[in-house]
Amino acid sequence: MARKKIVAGNWKMNTVPAEGVELAKAVVAGRSEVCECVNFIVCPPFTHLSQVVEAVKGSDIAVGAQDCATEAKGAYTGEIAASMIAALGCKYVILGHSERRQYYGETSETLNKKMAQAYANNLTPIYCVGENLEEREAGNHFAVCKAQIEEVVFNLTEEQFANLVIAYEPVWAIGTGKTATAEQAQEIHAYIREVLREKFGALAEECPILYGGSCKPSNAAEIFAKEDVDGGLIGGAALVATDFLAIGKGF
Ligand code: PEP
Repeated sequence: MARKKIVAGNWKMNTVPAEGVELAKAVVAGRSEVCECVNFIVCPPFTHLSQVVEAVKGSDIAVGAQDCATEAKGAYTGEIAASMIAALGCKYVILGHSERRQYYGETSETLNKKMAQAYANNLTPIYCVGENLEEREAGNHFAVCKAQIEEVVFNLTEEQFANLVIAYEPVWAIGTGKTATAEQAQEIHAYIREVLREKFGALAEECPILYGGSCKPSNAAEIFAKEDVDGGLIGGAALVATDFLAIGKGF
């Protein structure tokens, strides 16, 4: 069975609502130039999720959030529950992004709770894993990714796992202009799939594994051509509609 091809844009803390709506509309406008086989997802800040859902209405572009709370509801000032995100019409939520692990102390313990909230509200998690430069240079990248998967993904039921997207994002390649080579990406994507196979057997063949880290129109095709790379999680280049769409042409 062919795996889903996905290009997801993580807008991070960029765009005010009017800019976000303009960007989403530009993606919708250019979408027909890219193969229908590509599933596009845009992940704006919480503040304009609902406006972006409205802006992409009638197209096949899906909307996701960049995080969700560990709890269902209650006295958690400043938090956004998965139910609130789902109620806006979002289908996805990015969880475990390296910036959240690094700057906001996200751990496997908190991520297990967030994953449970996402599934309880029918959101598909885009679960991020990846090593930092020191870990890569010490040759620990396989072990780091394995632990990030075992500690969180291995707790999922088969039904939940069948509705999961994984993003491999080497921290040293995020926003740095440095990209993993297509061979490096394939090597670790194949390894991640092997780890998933240990727990979920044949279901692992269906799990989309995206590459993220300075992916752009000029390098997407080479990376996406690799067998175990099923698309990209895109940061900087997702802020320019033509670049984001051109990445989709990399398939
Ligand atoms: C990201 O942070 O998810 C990312 C891939 O960023 P960039 O494309 O800017 O490296």
